[in-house]
Amino acid sequence: MLNPPVVSAFLPPRRILMGPGPSDVYPQVLAAQSRPTIGHLDPLFIGMMDELKSLLQYAFQTKNDMTLAVSAPGSAGMETCFVNLLEPGDTVIVCRNGVFGDRMRQNVERCGAEAIVVDNAWGEPVDPHAVEAALVANPKAKYLAFVHAETSTGALSDAKTLCALARKFGCLSIVDAVTSLGGVELKVDEWGIDAIYSGSQKCLSCVPGLSPVSFSPAAVEKIKQRKTVVQSWFLDQSLVMNYWSGGAKRSYHHTAPVNTLYALHESLRLLAQEGLENAWQRHRDMHKILKQELQRLGLEFVVAEESRLPQLNTVYIPKGVDDAAIRKQLLVQYNLEIGAGLGEFAGKAWRIGLMGYAARRENIVLCIKALENVLA
Ligand SMILES: *Cc1c(COP(=O)(O)O)cnc(C)c1O
Repeated sequence: MLNPPVVSAFLPPRRILMGPGPSDVYPQVLAAQSRPTIGHLDPLFIGMMDELKSLLQYAFQTKNDMTLAVSAPGSAGMETCFVNLLEPGDTVIVCRNGVFGDRMRQNVERCGAEAIVVDNAWGEPVDPHAVEAALVANPKAKYLAFVHAETSTGALSDAKTLCALARKFGCLSIVDAVTSLGGVELKVDEWGIDAIYSGSQKCLSCVPGLSPVSFSPAAVEKIKQRKTVVQSWFLDQSLVMNYWSGGAKRSYHHTAPVNTLYALHESLRLLAQEGLENAWQRHRDMHKILKQELQRLGLEFVVAEESRLPQLNTVYIPKGVDDAAIRKQLLVQYNLEIGAGLGEFAGKAWRIGLMGYAARRENIVLCIKALENVLA
C-alpha cells in the first residue's frame, strides 16, 4: 500500500491574464461552471445544448447546421477539421506565417495528404498574391488552410479575400479562428468559410477545454463522400453529429463535459448580450489605449499597424532587459501574466493579450503601471 499523500486543497490566486490565452474568465462563467452536474442526456441538458448551438451560430455568423463544440481544446478543433475533410493523397495549400500555420501543415501530413506551404515572414499577414500563385501552380489542390489571427506573432490575415480566392480555384477553405472569434470581425457565411475552428479560452473568455467548430454544407458533402473512414474515432463528426443534432433522439457518443458546456453557454450568452459588433469595437478601443501607453514606455510593435491584432499585442523586448525575470516579477508582484515570445520570437518579444473579458480599461491601467515599475 502506498501512503496517501498529504495535500491541501489547491487555491489558485486571482491572476490577471493578459497573455495569449487562457484569458481572464468572466465571473459569471466561473459561476455557471460550478452549477450542479446533470446527465448529458437529461432533457434539460439537451435544451441547453440546442441553445448553445444557436449561440455558436451567432458567434460564427453562420446558418451551418454542423456547428458544435468539440470536447477538447482548440488543437482538437484543428485536428477535427483536417481529419474529417482530408483523405490520403489530397493536396492542401497551407499558409504559414507563425507557429499555428506550421501545426496545420503537420496535421495535413499526418492525414497522408500533401501540404504545399506558402510561407510569409513571422509578423506579416498571409499574402493573397502568394496564395493565388500557389493555387495557379497546383490545380490539384482541394483545400486552402490558413490562420486568421496568428497568435504567435499578433498578425491578422484577410480571411475574406483568402476565402474568395479558395472559392475561385474550386478549393474549400479551412480557417483557424482560435484567437479571432469574438475579438475581430469574422463572418463565416458571408466570407464563404467551409471549415472553421476556435477555442473557448481566448476572446470568448470561457474556461479552456472546448473547441467550437463549424462546417459548411459543401464541407459536410465532402465528409459524406469520403472513400476512407476517418482515422480518429473520437473526432469523427459523422458519429458526433448523432449526439449534437439528434434533438430528443440524441444518443451516447462520449460523456459531454457537462459543466464546461454550461460555462461556454454563459460566455456566448454574454457575447450575444453585448453584441458581436460591440465586442469587436471594444477590442479595437482597448487596443488603441494600450498601444499609446506601450509606445509611451518606448516599446515597439512587431506587426505593422494595418495588420495588427487588437487582442494580441506583440512588442519587442527592450535591449538589455531580462525577459524571464520581468515576466516573473509581473506574476509574483502584480499577479499579472503576459505572454512570452513563441518560436522565432522566443526571448525577443512579449505578447500582451486583450482578449474578451481582459479587454478592459482597468487591466490596461494595471498592466502599464506594472510594466513601468518593473522596467524602471
Ligand atoms: C491557442 C491557439 C491554438 C490552440 O488552441 P489550444 O486550445 O491551446 O489547443 C490554435 N491556433 C491558434 C491560432 C491559437 O491561438
